[in-house]
Amino acid sequence: MNLFLYSHGISIANHRRDGMIHYRCPACAARSRFNLIEQHAKPIKIDVNTGELTLLEQLDPFHLPYNGPERRVQCATCGLIEDEIRFIKMAETDQL
Ligand SMILES: [Zn+2]
Repeated sequence: MNLFLYSHGISIANHRRDGMIHYRCPACAARSRFNLIEQHAKPIKIDVNTGELTLLEQLDPFHLPYNGPERRVQCATCGLIEDEIRFIKMAETDQL
């Protein structure tokens, strides 16, 4: 099993009783070819007067840290991009 599979929390852990992962595209139902998109958020600050962009080492009190999904998935058959959870949920529905 690949390392990234461990890092995603309960829904995936529950889904993978057999130690494997299952995706199904919500749009075209493809099940085997995907592009994994790892999301690494970089906090920035923009000076509204000059347009200067600064990459922040440290967040100020008004800056919410990124709390979106750590991974998105693109279906390599139809090109749809969604959060990974949607592909997992589609696969789960499939098995009911
Ligand atoms: Zn698709």
